[in-house]
Amino acid sequence: MKSIAILGGGLSGLTQAWKAQKSGKKVTIFEENSRLGGVIQSERTKEGFLLDYGPNSLSLRKQNLSEMLEQLDILDHAIDANVIAKKRFIVRAGKLVALPLNFPTFLSSRFLSPIGKLRILLEPFIRKSKSNSESVAQFIERRLGREVLDYAANPFLGGVFAARPETLSLPNAFPALAEMERQNGSIFRGFLASRKKSNRMEKTRLISFPNGMEELITRFEMKVQCSILRKHSAKEIESVHQNGWKIKCTSENGSQSILHFDELICTLPATQISSIKWTNVKNSKDLNVLSTAPHFPLSLVFLGFEREQIEHPLDGFGFLVPELENRKILGTLFSSTLFSNRAPEGKVLLTTFVGGERQPHLAEMNDGSLFQSVSDELSCLLGVKGKPIFQKIKRWPLSIPLPDSRMSERKDAARRLSSLNNGLSFSGSHLTGVSLPNCLEG
Ligand SMILES: Cc1cc2nc3c(=O)[nH]c(=O)nc-3n(C[C@H](O)[C@H](O)[C@H](O)COP(=O)(O)OP(=O)(O)OC[C@H]3O[C@@H](n4cnc5c(N)ncnc54)[C@H](O)[C@@H]3O)c2cc1C
Repeated sequence: MKSIAILGGGLSGLTQAWKAQKSGKKVTIFEENSRLGGVIQSERTKEGFLLDYGPNSLSLRKQNLSEMLEQLDILDHAIDANVIAKKRFIVRAGKLVALPLNFPTFLSSRFLSPIGKLRILLEPFIRKSKSNSESVAQFIERRLGREVLDYAANPFLGGVFAARPETLSLPNAFPALAEMERQNGSIFRGFLASRKKSNRMEKTRLISFPNGMEELITRFEMKVQCSILRKHSAKEIESVHQNGWKIKCTSENGSQSILHFDELICTLPATQISSIKWTNVKNSKDLNVLSTAPHFPLSLVFLGFEREQIEHPLDGFGFLVPELENRKILGTLFSSTLFSNRAPEGKVLLTTFVGGERQPHLAEMNDGSLFQSVSDELSCLLGVKGKPIFQKIKRWPLSIPLPDSRMSERKDAARRLSSLNNGLSFSGSHLTGVSLPNCLEG
């Protein structure tokens, strides 16, 4: 039985552990924290609010992932998002405007001007690009027009990646969209063709768990039979003459140990790879390439209110803010509408995202200024009255590894390192893509 070490106990590490276990390997996970899950963290506060500090939901579209979660006994425990959470809002001219859910509401919606809507209808007639290195902004503006870039792509990408569409590379951030244009010549035709694909579930499910997203990890952990070294931080890695790997790690009390494995999968965040001392690794300069993923600070501000303190019906997923609107927040989730049991009876929970690539300095404001700034924005946009009955901030100084134009270089570097160094491979959201399904596909 081959022994394999997995560095990092986030979702990527657990996924790799599960795969290695299925292929008959003896697995050990090294995790520097006392808990697994990485950025997937949930907490029920003493006031009765359930906070997700990292991801708030998992969007399940593919049959193979649904089957994987079933095999792991995870899907039985999942809860679906409230049906009204299909409704999403953006801010336009200082007001929340619902995004259209079908063609008739698209025609009547105020989300785009009549000219913006007509421009979308031209999409099937726009010629393919010859470039395969466009940014998401270039692609959207070329195919769908400037207004869709400003009022759909910009807020959407602010919500998903906390990034600007200009920074994200189309083939790296949305390979499926790039492929649709390449194969079908149009996004519309591509969507119609993709509906027929066999791996696509009939209906996309947006799921979480009764105790928040961290339950995904606790359930995963029950199924992965491996040795888990918590509070063990990997510090040095040495290739033993192409015949296995030595890992030097420190535990919480500062004691050091060296362990030997046949194989090694590194799922550490990109920012951590260069802080490890690597010895005898062929083409070691590629390790520095892996660390080049850009990250920006992001703060999540959780506010709890009595239901009657808020004028807006909170009848949806939440709202996103286009950069042109010049506000101090990226968007707000109506967390207690999205999933049940996120707030005590009669109370509501809002989660607001601040900072990212657009306004990194705002994420770094002190607690008092951050609460004030978010409260001011919410009173203006949602008609919030009075002070919150609960408030908390979660800060992510290096939040999300962005799939920028250098992501292909990073993937090539990871492939080269694996092919030149026997038994070494890399995974993690900076290589797979950041969504939870991307991490589960590994
Ligand atoms: C605020 C936020 C909101 C998000 N929302 C969503 C969402 O709603 N839906 C969605 O699909 N995705 C979302 N994502 C993205 C998704 O959560 C992440 O991409 C994914 O969880 C990353 O998993 P990972 O295992 O690759 O990395 P991580 O979760 O970062 O795990 C890496 C692990 O390595 C450990 N580690 C680091 N250094 C060492 C060391 N030297 N030795 C040992 N262990 C070490 C860390 O402690 C950590 O546990 C969100 C991300 C963030 C930050």
